[in-house]
Amino acid sequence: MEHIRLLLDIGELNWVFKDSADTEALLQNIVKMVARHMKADVCSIYFFDDNNQELVLRANVGLKPDSIGKIKMKLGEGIAGACLKNIEPICTADSLVHPDFKYFPGTNEELYKAFLAEPITSKASRVGVLVLQRKEENHFSEDDVLAVRIITSQLAALIENAKLMTSMNQYIKQMATVDRGPQLDAKFIKGKPASRGYVYGKIAIIEDSKAFENLETMSFEKRTLGDFIHALKSTEQQIELLQKKVEKNLTDAASMIFTSHLMILKDKTFINGIMEQISKGKNPPEAVMSIAKKYIHIFLANANEYIREKAKDIEDLAVRIIANLVRDEIKLPGVKNRIVIAREFYPSDVLRLSSEQIKGAVLISGGVTSHVSILARSLGMPIVIANEPALLNISPDAKILLDAEIGNIYINPRPDILKEFSDRLRKKNKKAPAAMTPRTKTKDGLRIKLMANVNLLKDVDRLKELACDGIGLYRSEFPFLIRSNFPSEEEQFFIYRKLMEGMPGKEITFRTLDVGGDKILSYSQKTRKDNPVLGLRSIRFSLANRGIFAEQIRAILRAGYKADLRIMFPMIFSLEEFITAKEVVRQCSADLTSGGIPHNVTPQIGMMVEIPAVIEIISEFAGIADFFCIGTNDLVQYMLAADRSNEEVADYYLPHHPAVLRAIKKVAAAAQAAKIDISVCGDMANSAEYIKFLIGAGIRKLSMNPEYLGENQKIIAALDSKKCRQLTEEIVCLSRVDDIEKKLWPEKLMI
Ligand code: PEP
Ligand code: MG
Repeated sequence: MEHIRLLLDIGELNWVFKDSADTEALLQNIVKMVARHMKADVCSIYFFDDNNQELVLRANVGLKPDSIGKIKMKLGEGIAGACLKNIEPICTADSLVHPDFKYFPGTNEELYKAFLAEPITSKASRVGVLVLQRKEENHFSEDDVLAVRIITSQLAALIENAKLMTSMNQYIKQMATVDRGPQLDAKFIKGKPASRGYVYGKIAIIEDSKAFENLETMSFEKRTLGDFIHALKSTEQQIELLQKKVEKNLTDAASMIFTSHLMILKDKTFINGIMEQISKGKNPPEAVMSIAKKYIHIFLANANEYIREKAKDIEDLAVRIIANLVRDEIKLPGVKNRIVIAREFYPSDVLRLSSEQIKGAVLISGGVTSHVSILARSLGMPIVIANEPALLNISPDAKILLDAEIGNIYINPRPDILKEFSDRLRKKNKKAPAAMTPRTKTKDGLRIKLMANVNLLKDVDRLKELACDGIGLYRSEFPFLIRSNFPSEEEQFFIYRKLMEGMPGKEITFRTLDVGGDKILSYSQKTRKDNPVLGLRSIRFSLANRGIFAEQIRAILRAGYKADLRIMFPMIFSLEEFITAKEVVRQCSADLTSGGIPHNVTPQIGMMVEIPAVIEIISEFAGIADFFCIGTNDLVQYMLAADRSNEEVADYYLPHHPAVLRAIKKVAAAAQAAKIDISVCGDMANSAEYIKFLIGAGIRKLSMNPEYLGENQKIIAALDSKKCRQLTEEIVCLSRVDDIEKKLWPEKLMI
């Protein structure tokens, strides 16, 4: 407690005032004084800027002097940002592994692992943060935390005034500068990781019609009809090649993603229209533009949304033909090997861009549990979602480094940042993906079944090397989402059979079609409405389209012949609905039997628990369902009224809300009482902290993305199931989100 006493009798505040020529000097004197008292290697003061909702480093000792004014972070971002957001100190012995840590290369921060952040507040409003750092071996004690709290409360008024002065000065400076329009000066943007990975490279900004519109403003050297025919051939060959690649890599998705491109290329009216204009003297690139515009105009005027969407294909095709035509004159940027920045993606964009070998993507809107993110994970495409529309305006020559492991975007990163990442990447590549041994158990021997979530057949190839217990969720909608029409029973049978063959003898849970919400079928008007997540989605769509539903069930039953087959209905909301869906399965089986077609006559039939309304009547469901599977992605969305695809409400999307955790516990208890099987297959099952809670709640089967299986097996092997139970019991008695956070992430708040 020595330094507390020291500080309490300081007459030094006077010294700080007297010896400071201006506000900046005053702040510098404060950090020097605090660092000395606290025996800290680094001391920093961050101001909180209410307008931009960001923290800015204003005074510092210990880091590189040029860091002042440059280190900035949003509220909630980085350890200091998290500390101020929650108005709670954060103390950690190793900041580099702290989940909130944000790395600022070139500041020397990496030398100081021990980190203590104390919020500075005044009358409950946020003023800033005081940060102390030490070399790792000398980390902060509880006494230190207390001392810093006292120091900060002594200095809060002083710092608040200094902040006021600084912002006045900035305002005056700003008034003197000319408005240069919206720009993105930031070098670093914090987003959310939606699909893991690190990538670095040039960017390609995809904004609606941008590439096409840009062409209109260009003028090109004169080309001939021969050049056009040659460009047409090259375009066709390139697209066929792309299509072949998709077919090879993604048999289930080989839905001719580029069909409409190829069809338009072969369309006589379209091609002849262009040739006619060329023969009348128009330069071929202009002729292509002119006919493309005519088609786009016609498509856009169509009442059918599916046709309207085709306008995009024409634009894309025109850009490709012109790129081939003018190749020797200018190189139009493509997307290959680039990091794409786009407002949003549809699942079909993910597939198309993956086949065009983009390196990764930054999306302005979307959610980390959305289906675009889920699909990208299957394809190994790193994605970060950042609600920062200015990203669409960054210079097309910029390069970005995407750290999709934690959601960081670095624009034109400096060489030292790049070096740091290439080292990390090398280490990551050296480390083989976490292997698995059969039969996962906790430290005290409790058997936990680890299953895989499968979106594409491609995922099954990865599973062959992993000793998982089966497929806990096959999202059967993906082959539907990426096609341009409903796949036939035979096509589905072919895909499902391959899935079964990939996991012989293991349990496979087929979820029936779950379209609607963010899983829009571009060819079905019915899934597009104002409130799609509350609309005709999932089992509601299947029951309203019995023909499509029955075809799928027949394909599943046939493919599941002699297999350990489970059929699961998504989004069940009432007992009647479940019974009706079950009746469709019975009827399909009867039809197949009378047709003499071999199929699985005894599949287990269960339901997803995703709609909060079923929780109250869960015991009754347990009497008629063979199993439950909790879909936490939707359950959280519906319980908390927070759209899982909307980055703007991401802070409301809290799987650890007490209502959600208690609901999970209740469902698990009902399943146990009725002795039926229960699993969790939403994203909560990916995360180590939630796994503790789930095991404690009595869940013995978890289904997760294949990439998490190995590491989670290790985490489970280190758990004691009795301690998990105790933790869950304690958590379900808590009613505040922040109290639950302290239990689930104790290392975040060490005091
Ligand atoms: C869920 O909702 O948790 C789930 C697993 O289903 P999906 O993510 O496909 O909606
Ligand atoms: Mg769901």
